[in-house]
Parts: sequence; structure tokens; C-alpha cells
Amino acid sequence: MENPKIRLFLDHPLGAGQSVPLSADQMHYLTAVMRQAAGALIGIFNGRDGEWRARLVPDGRRGGVVLCEAQTRPQRTPPDLWLLFAPIKKARTDFIVEKAAELGAARIVPVQTDFTNAERIRRDRLQAHAIEAAEQCGGTFVPEVSDLVTLPRLLADWPADRRILWADEGRAGFGPQLACQPRGPWAVLIGPEGGFSDAERARLGAMAQVVPVSLGPRILRADTAAVAALALWQAALGDWLPAPNGAA
Ligand code: SAH
Repeated sequence: MENPKIRLFLDHPLGAGQSVPLSADQMHYLTAVMRQAAGALIGIFNGRDGEWRARLVPDGRRGGVVLCEAQTRPQRTPPDLWLLFAPIKKARTDFIVEKAAELGAARIVPVQTDFTNAERIRRDRLQAHAIEAAEQCGGTFVPEVSDLVTLPRLLADWPADRRILWADEGRAGFGPQLACQPRGPWAVLIGPEGGFSDAERARLGAMAQVVPVSLGPRILRADTAAVAALALWQAALGDWLPAPNGAA
């Protein structure tokens, strides 16, 4: 059977025969926006149990449920990669979150740096963008968007075993240095349009976990840099490569 075209993230346990309640908003989306009638098949996932084919059962009022029939994709969790980025203008920040979810970041952490202009973020809005991106790209995992944290606070209790790919504009043109790095827990760090301050550069440069990396000879905008760095990491150490030892 063909996989359903419409995919919905539902934070509810999924399994054969499981009935999953829909909110009024979700019903409105399925029936009024997407024009799905009773009995329509949709794809659902919860970030943990893979993707399921489910049948729409409206309850006659504004609510309804979907009934899980069979699993259509196994759960696929991305590599243990976090994206740390300094929020920029709203539309560009939305873009970064959307692309990070598509490119397989496991966690997205907005970071306030010395030259970050945005002082607040709407975490719930950014999380909704990550969910929409996962629905749209066929993923079965939704990265969690964290609250805004300052760079010193984030680095103060940084795990010893998690490396940081520091996209360092000061190294523009000096070639990527990822080929010899080990796989395992990583984070990608992208600065704001103003770049990193001298104090931040000194702090990052002194950390054993930090691997400064160039993204080529041109200075990229922060949103471009986030996409480029995630792609670079995925190609060198992530799930663009065949899994080690032939594992799935
Ligand atoms: N105003 C800064 C540029 C900041 S670009 C300057 O003129 O130097 C925003 C962020 O994108 C940087 O902090 C860095 O993390 C990343 N970035 C952009 N171009 C890069 C490059 N060529 N190499 C490495 N990182 C880059």
C-alpha cells in the first residue's frame, strides 16, 4: 500500500489498534484545510515509535481520532548532534530551525552571545517550526528546541565528551578539519551576524572539546553558515555516511 501523503506529528503512544485523539485544530487542518474525509489514511509519528498508517475517524462534532493500522517506517533517530546558534532576525531564525530539523540535528539550542541582537525567542513557535519540518521531510524524529541560554552558562558545564564544531569566521579559507575527528556526541556552533567577541574567541579556543572549522573563503550569513556546517558535519561524521560496521 502506498504511504499516506499527509503526515502529522502526534505526541501520543502509537501501536497497532491504538486510537489517538485529535485536537479541534488538528481536525480542522485535516478536514477543512487538507479536505480529508472519514476513513482517509494519514501518516502519523510521535518522535519515538516510527511512522504509522492511521485512519481518520471524526466523532461527528469538532473532534475525532485516528486509528493506527500498521507501521510504515521504523523509528529513525538522528546522530547525537546539537545545533547551537545565536538568534538573528525572526524569519532567518525560523529558517535555521527548519533547516536544522531537516538536516537531522537532534537538539537545537538558541544561544545568547556578546553580539547577539535578539534578546528573546519564542521557544514554542520555534518548536512548532521544527515539528512542521519533520512532518514535511519524512522524518520520524523532532529535535527539541531549548530555551535561550547565554554562551558562558552553556560552556560552564559543557560535557567533557561532546565536541564542538566551532564555525570560526576567523579561519575563513583555511579548509575543513573534520576528516580525522571521531564520531560520537557533537555540537555545531554558529555565531551571530556580528561574529564572536575576542573574549568568546579566547574562551572557545581554550576548550579541549572545541574544533575550529572554516566554512570556506567567503563570510557566510549566519543562516547559510548553519546549513553549511550541519551538512559538512553530516557528510563527514553523521548519517550521510554508511553506518559503521554495516549497522542500519
Ligand atoms: N561579522 C563577522 C561574520 C559573522 S558571520 C565577520 O565579518 O567576521 C556569522 C557566523 O557564521 C560566524 O560567527 C560563524 O560562526 C559563521 N561563519 C560565516 N562564514 C564563515 C566561514 N567562512 N567560516 C567559518 N564560519 C563562518
